[in-house]
Amino acid sequence: MDLRELYQDLILDHSRKPRNFRTLPSARCAEGYNPLCGDRIKVFVNIEGNMVKDVCFQGAGCAICTASASLMTDAIRDKTEEQAHEIFESFHRLVTSEEPPKAEGIDLGKLSVFAGVREYPIRIKCATLAWHTLRAALDKETEAITTESTD
Ligand code: ZN
Repeated sequence: MDLRELYQDLILDHSRKPRNFRTLPSARCAEGYNPLCGDRIKVFVNIEGNMVKDVCFQGAGCAICTASASLMTDAIRDKTEEQAHEIFESFHRLVTSEEPPKAEGIDLGKLSVFAGVREYPIRIKCATLAWHTLRAALDKETEAITTESTD
């Protein structure tokens, strides 16, 4: 399998130097596990009012998983919870849908780099793990989630 296209510079950069790679005490937290690849991460999110004031993650994942989590934390900081859910939906469509994502006022910006992931079905769960984990944290779910119970 030729992953050169997939592992673009931005993904490599974020996987080598993940942003917001730390823990956040007393924040909402959820843990995600992707048994197909072995990715395991925790996402921490601090909500003030309905704003995402801080978000970070920690764990061990492959390059796609780590880069996706890293770019996700940058993308949803200072957004409302509702916007964070909308970005989740847009990102999810970007990596899973046959059709290009519809313009709905949500600019995925750098996250668009993950569009190529849909060509590699086994990598889709790597790319979406952080996002499912984020959603679990936002929804205050406390038990660990796995990609095998979500899609
Ligand atoms: Zn992975």
